[in-house]
Amino acid sequence: MAVIFDPDLIDFPSGSLIAGERLRGSGQHYAVLRPSDGKVAREERGAGQDLVDRAVNTARDSYKTSGWPTSEPRARQRVMRKWADLIDAHFEELARLEAAVSVRVIGAVRLRDVAMSAELIRFYGEAIDKIEGSVLATRAGKLSTLVREPYGVVAAIAPWNTPLLLATLKIAPAIAAGNAIVLKPSELTPYSIIRLAELGVEAGLPAGMISVLPGLGSETGSALIRHPGVNYVSFTGSAATGVQVMCDAAQTGLKPVSLELGGKSPQLVFADAPDLDRVADLVAQSVCANGGQVCFAGTRLVVERSIEGELVEKIRTRMQNVTPGPTWDDQTTLAPIASASQAARLEAILEQAKAGGAETLEGGGRVEGEPGGIFFAPTILHKAPPENPAVRDEIFGPVLTVQPFEDFEEGLALADHPTFGLAGGVHTSNLQKALQAANAIQAGTVWVNHFGPNTDPNAPMGGYKQSGFGKDFGVMGLNKFLKTKNIAITF
Ligand code: NAD
Repeated sequence: MAVIFDPDLIDFPSGSLIAGERLRGSGQHYAVLRPSDGKVAREERGAGQDLVDRAVNTARDSYKTSGWPTSEPRARQRVMRKWADLIDAHFEELARLEAAVSVRVIGAVRLRDVAMSAELIRFYGEAIDKIEGSVLATRAGKLSTLVREPYGVVAAIAPWNTPLLLATLKIAPAIAAGNAIVLKPSELTPYSIIRLAELGVEAGLPAGMISVLPGLGSETGSALIRHPGVNYVSFTGSAATGVQVMCDAAQTGLKPVSLELGGKSPQLVFADAPDLDRVADLVAQSVCANGGQVCFAGTRLVVERSIEGELVEKIRTRMQNVTPGPTWDDQTTLAPIASASQAARLEAILEQAKAGGAETLEGGGRVEGEPGGIFFAPTILHKAPPENPAVRDEIFGPVLTVQPFEDFEEGLALADHPTFGLAGGVHTSNLQKALQAANAIQAGTVWVNHFGPNTDPNAPMGGYKQSGFGKDFGVMGLNKFLKTKNIAITF
């Protein structure tokens, strides 16, 4: 055990943040729980319609009058650099706010989430004076120039599984592109994001350009998306909510929408994979990280039959060696399940999977961790056909299915999922096979002899099929927050 902090001693920044002011919510009551031990971190009230109106109107005014979208690019870069420096200076505070109420273990938050958030703000800050237009080849006497412009007010909705990083992936490019943003974090995990936004204002971002409205999706989220003052919607969450978001966004103003949704990513392993121990590490890590609550987790092992037994045994050993524990202990390698409802969903899918013929090779139930928290044993299922819920549905828990294949074509067919397409992994020493498999897997990212996470701010990630559309990270993550105008001149 290496307990890094005492969650009872954390001062959580409560309420909504609008124009740099923390305001008490007027919407529904709910408790923000610590998933690690089930205790209440804070009782909250979400942002009701009045605060949604206030935040969007403030964002509209700020977009028009603060001068941020039109100010000198290098001045905006200086603010973003200072913002990133402030994140570095508040590193430990942000890390603890994040780990206390989420399923992110403090070690991972320190290593990746806070540092990457600062890095993304620097990356998109640097990009501000690289936003370019173009001149088209038109007939004589005509000049057609394409210029990029911000949308205006961006409504952003983020999930609970990697709260700070996924919110920053919206905030940093939207602000760098010159938009104002109103972000609704998950009601389960608002605190680190409120502080991140406050640090932006401290760095010199006009206060009205960023608001954070915690609250329930059905109340705050839906009101925000349907608000007529919003010009663009950026959503990360489940595929089912994504459908609702698209419908709501179409109700008022027909706003453009980008969706980062769920996944069911394959790990396609050929018998000539360079190092089975490393493949086993990658598969086990991918399935167990964050208690399995990762959108791109490689939860479908599609493996050449001749190495199935050996590889599964290696993965099994690694899964048996995880350490369940609270997120404030940096020795924890199996995080809690986020909520009782998430655990109930996971267990219901496993029951359906078994009823459909799947057999349990490893795990299959809850394990002890911190008292009061829900911890689910890393689980391996086999003999599940493609239409079985364990193979078909996103479970969002530490559950791996195993599907053996005999020949190349069968492997490719099993690897490509009929509905999801967020990511995939291919493990082979043969370049030709690797490229053919990468072509066949219809997903936004295919890792070869590797499997996530994305560690380069410039490498875009995003879904195919029902995993969504629109990229996060990189220049593509910036361009989605810009629209294009053709200025056509006759001379
Ligand atoms: P969710 O869809 O339940 O909620 C996501 C967010 O939407 C939350 O803030 C929630 O309050 C809000 N919301 C819910 N109903 C809403 C509505 N009607 N209108 C507006 N907002 C609403 O998802 P979750 O359980 O928070 O997160 C897990 C899901 O997110 C998984 O499916 C996971 O794969 C996906 N995810 C995807 C990515 C990606 O980049 N593709 C990253 C992380 C998580």
